[in-house]
Amino acid sequence: MSMPQAKIATLLGEGKKELASIKDASTLLTWETKYLGRKSELNEILKGLKDLSPEEKRLVGPVAQHARETLTTLHQEAAKRIEREGVDWDKEWIDVTAPGERIPAGHLHPITLLENEIADIFASLGFGVWDGPELEMEQNNFDSLNFPKDHPARDMQDTFWVKQDKHWKHTYLPRTHTSTVQVRYMQEHKPPIRIIVPGRIFRNEATDASHEHTFHQFECLMVDEPGKVTVATFKYIAETFFSRFFGKKIDIRLRPSYFPFTEPSFEFDISCVLCERKGCSVCQQTGWLEIGGAGMVNQKVFESVGYKRGAYQGFAWGFGLTRLAMMKYKITDIRLFMSGDLRFLKQF
Ligand SMILES: [Zn+2]
Repeated sequence: MSMPQAKIATLLGEGKKELASIKDASTLLTWETKYLGRKSELNEILKGLKDLSPEEKRLVGPVAQHARETLTTLHQEAAKRIEREGVDWDKEWIDVTAPGERIPAGHLHPITLLENEIADIFASLGFGVWDGPELEMEQNNFDSLNFPKDHPARDMQDTFWVKQDKHWKHTYLPRTHTSTVQVRYMQEHKPPIRIIVPGRIFRNEATDASHEHTFHQFECLMVDEPGKVTVATFKYIAETFFSRFFGKKIDIRLRPSYFPFTEPSFEFDISCVLCERKGCSVCQQTGWLEIGGAGMVNQKVFESVGYKRGAYQGFAWGFGLTRLAMMKYKITDIRLFMSGDLRFLKQF
């Protein structure tokens, strides 16, 4: 075998072998220059063919051409393979022995967690969740709920008022209770009604460990034809809800009270969740905990939303979600909830 043919065979063999181990585009380019480039050994041999004798040319020529075609085809295949694999494994690698990196993750606010838990229990009793604006018209916050014009709740000391513009048709305020959503809902829907309304409310209060100007309330409204929703229905729903919420049998006690939007009205207490009515420091030895207010919806409220007087009957009740959260998590300062203090929030 003449010298060029031996050289070509060596180049072909080495070229194939090197190509098989190439995994990235830049190494492939180096390979291409070395084996197929203008100054490659193979190209030099091809260029030198013209100096050979016709006999040598006939022997070497086809071998050199074949080697060039083979390497060109293999190069194209390798280029496709590298593009398909797409990753430069010489640079991109994973140290599987490296310690894990802790990714900081946030979570829901304790009040939101509580709202979700309450909504789940009420959903199982057939209630839907409804929402309303936090900035409300005086009409929806007071008038439609049968608050007289001179009711002390409208006073500047109890309610924040928005500075009015003379072009406005209504007087606005940050709502002082979630009962505003009762009005809004009934204006747009006819009974039967079964809704709960969790939401943020605002009171013009001096703050201390048990008073806050912004807190969360929870409202429940159930209305149907006369006789279908009674005080007994309320008691059953309330007992069922609190028993599921605290995970033990809870009793409800009603005491007569007065609210403009309900008639009759009552305050309601639940049996102490800590001492089971034996008496402890939390319930001040009474065995009962004051929870909220409730009553049968005043017919004047039904009239204000466009229902015919006497056509429907139902109950409404509300309580402080923040207060319930304090009881559930045994928190003694109400201000912690709105403080944004991560040391507090991270405990939930
Ligand atoms: Zn107690």
